[in-house]
Amino acid sequence: MSATPTRRIIAATTLLALLALSACAAGPAFHARQVAAQPSPSASPSASPSPSASPSPTARPTPGSLDWYVSQAPTFPEAPPPQPVPLPVTGPIPFWHRLPTDQKVAFITIDDGGLARPPAVADFIWRAHIPVTMFLNSPAAEEHDEYFRQIQVAGGVVENHTIRHNSLAGRSYDYQKQEICGAADKLETLFGKRATLFRPPFGEYDSTTLAAARDCGAKAVLHWSETVHEGKVRYQTPEKVVQPGDVLLMHFRPALMDDLLAALKAIHRAGLTPALLEDYIR
Ligand SMILES: [Zn+2]
Repeated sequence: MSATPTRRIIAATTLLALLALSACAAGPAFHARQVAAQPSPSASPSASPSPSASPSPTARPTPGSLDWYVSQAPTFPEAPPPQPVPLPVTGPIPFWHRLPTDQKVAFITIDDGGLARPPAVADFIWRAHIPVTMFLNSPAAEEHDEYFRQIQVAGGVVENHTIRHNSLAGRSYDYQKQEICGAADKLETLFGKRATLFRPPFGEYDSTTLAAARDCGAKAVLHWSETVHEGKVRYQTPEKVVQPGDVLLMHFRPALMDDLLAALKAIHRAGLTPALLEDYIR
């Protein structure tokens, strides 16, 4: 069946409108949106350099702007090919403050999701190639799924942080399993991937937590070795330097852009490169 001239005109008009729309999309959210249109959103941040919309060499980005954050991000040595850490075949799954690896890498994790979601985070992660793991509470993930999906498209991975963010230590197996599996089920529906890592709220857990997390699909339970808040890294060890395998914890809070930048600088100072937890825990 051939198209009538009228149909052809409508089709051409629609195409022009679409082209005009895509030309207008070259704002800050351009890269993430562009990738979002691709069928597989699981691109690793190191896989494809972002198509450059770099400012002219003489232009200095305004402090606090996305361009400024990108310009402040350190340049890292290339991450080593990941050597996954050994996992126990039987028995409880491991609980780690720091990954048992000598490779010169550290890991950035961002928790919760309900409190604040600075809008430029996905673009910062995409443009600066920051590998991040997000431990989300499932109601926040559901309410703001588009926001977290943009970070997923930029290379972030969604993992499990329960439904209600209550302390699990001392609670029954049934309660813990409901909190962990319930969140895992919801996150899988939202983001198309079963969580393989679990972080208990407040880092509080017991042996029941490890059993319930395993039964819900987790391969490891993660604590942290540094926290980052309002642009400051707080070390849990006297050396005050990020160690290989360290896990840095921050939250979806108003200063998340500063926290990401502070984490990158601390990892860089230590001679390490940020890497993705899921490349090391398989
Ligand atoms: Zn939390």
